[in-house]
Amino acid sequence: MISIALDGPAGAGKSTVAKGVAKELGYIYVDTGALYRAVGLHFLRKGIDTNLNCDVEAELKEISIDIKFVKNEQKVFLNGEDVSNEIRTPDASMMASAVSAKPPVRAFLLEMQRKLARENNVLMDGRDIGTVVLPNATLKFFVTASAEERANRRYKELIEKGMKVEYSEVYDDIVTRDYNDSHREIAPLKPAEDSIMFDTTGNTLEESIELLKTAINERLESK
Ligand code: C5P
Repeated sequence: MISIALDGPAGAGKSTVAKGVAKELGYIYVDTGALYRAVGLHFLRKGIDTNLNCDVEAELKEISIDIKFVKNEQKVFLNGEDVSNEIRTPDASMMASAVSAKPPVRAFLLEMQRKLARENNVLMDGRDIGTVVLPNATLKFFVTASAEERANRRYKELIEKGMKVEYSEVYDDIVTRDYNDSHREIAPLKPAEDSIMFDTTGNTLEESIELLKTAINERLESK
């Protein structure tokens, strides 16, 4: 099986670019952030705040997370309920970042991600795919873009989905999550030593898809 790891900070365009590329390659696109978001949603619904002053392991015993692919599109389920839309709010983003720093949460989601890569050709999008989840991935990319550009893209995406958000809120969210994700002790956001840097600043979506696809094809051919 071929596995391509795509790591990078929030809003770098990983998901949109990866979806386009996965479709063309006939691979499954796995958005691992959705798993952390679904876990976070459980805590949000319980009224727990991002300080997570609770027994995290006991909370995890109350939930099951599943991923299904409907017409190639990933759906995420929390205790059997499709929460694919609800996990996209700014509150769910911040909670995902908070729960993802907890070792039991990472352990809880690890095997599910590895199993998907064992059974399918995947393009897996996350923060620690190349470093922790799939250290032997066929190819590893680290996708970045400036914080302003990432916030701008995320803002437009949320507005298009009909959500009421302010640009400043989205920008602050991106900067805070960057900091949290790269400073946590477990599986921090950082490029794997053998990853290829891919900066999407200034590119249109189509350009980024084309560039990434070319980079992947060239490297797969030389493998
Ligand atoms: O990718 P997305 O922005 O949806 O991820 C939400 C949050 O989940 C991130 O801010 C990060 O804290 C966490 N995450 C992670 N490891 C991954 C994917 C996401 O810690 N592999």
